[in-house]
Amino acid sequence: MSEIKICLSDSLKEKPKDETKLGFGDIFTDHMFMMDYDPQNGWHDPRIVPYGPISLSPAAMCLHYGQEVFEGMKAYRTKDGIQLFRPDENFKRLNVSNDRLCIPLIDEKVAYEGLKKLIEVDQDWVPHSEGTSLYIRPFIIATDEHLGVRPGHHYYFIIILSPVGAYYEEGLNPVNIYVETKYVRTVRGGMGMAKTGGNYAASIKAQDEAAVKYNYTQVLWLDGVERRYIEEVGTMNVFFKIGDTVVTPALEGSVLSGITRKSCIDILRSWGIKVEERRLSIDEVERAFEEGTLVEAFGTGTAAVISPIGHLKYHDKVMEINGGKIGELSQKLYDELTGIQWGKREDRFGWVDRIITKA
Ligand SMILES: *Cc1c(COP(=O)(O)O)cnc(C)c1O
Repeated sequence: MSEIKICLSDSLKEKPKDETKLGFGDIFTDHMFMMDYDPQNGWHDPRIVPYGPISLSPAAMCLHYGQEVFEGMKAYRTKDGIQLFRPDENFKRLNVSNDRLCIPLIDEKVAYEGLKKLIEVDQDWVPHSEGTSLYIRPFIIATDEHLGVRPGHHYYFIIILSPVGAYYEEGLNPVNIYVETKYVRTVRGGMGMAKTGGNYAASIKAQDEAAVKYNYTQVLWLDGVERRYIEEVGTMNVFFKIGDTVVTPALEGSVLSGITRKSCIDILRSWGIKVEERRLSIDEVERAFEEGTLVEAFGTGTAAVISPIGHLKYHDKVMEINGGKIGELSQKLYDELTGIQWGKREDRFGWVDRIITKA
């Protein structure tokens, strides 16, 4: 694989001055990483170029049939540098998604080197305030000018960067969740285990209806066959503390294998807490609620880290969890994970990857 070429922008943008107003996903840095694929050369020409529009044929296959995959990760500014959290897991998962969508696998090392170089070039864009970070969005699209349905022969791999604000302005606010009984996100055998736009396209209608009709911002997805087994919440994995045990749905093909999920399981077990990865039905959750053993529930994902669930609405029944407040374990997990990510707590699992050390 050739060297990463660097073409710097000659018109640098002004960086946001007020880091309390960063929000999520509206601001982009000065550069992006790109690499091309064609059948003759494989993945080639890794380069860093000024951030900006890309040229695509209106017949580009990704626009019509959704042959696309993506990742989501963050770079964190610590007191002595900039670090990533388990980036190897993201590139590994990108290849799992690639495989599912018939996209040629990338060289994870090249992608990682490209990302490191890109962050080095745009390092001043990593925000400084407590809780802020630089969101990283790697993605791959099929670019062939072709309207027949088949795997693409040409692709772009691109990484863009976006400084993002603290997810929680004032502490962790529990969210209210609508248990979705009409729509499904994916089914076993579908693409649920891949991070691909199609899964999101399938989910926005449910999210929109839950918001407009019932004033809920997120939905809890049930399995697509029996409509009983819990899968995920919104775009996060989900955990329930029932009695002394923490239960999370097993990865059976329709659930995305979250890196935050995996990290939470490891942390919980290291604390001596019993974690079960298995099928969990909404009826079991309802029963636990009735019996008073449903102690806590929370979602996990890179954006929010831990998102406590205040109450769950299933048909006409509203289940308030832990008095609608954040649970003890959710808070403890949040503190531990964010502590590791921002370099304030010991990285006892070796998850942190320091990419820039302050001189
Ligand atoms: C990205 C994603 C998650 C969370 O994964 P993390 O690696 O923890 O960020 C969960 N569910 C879906 C559907 C996702 O796309």
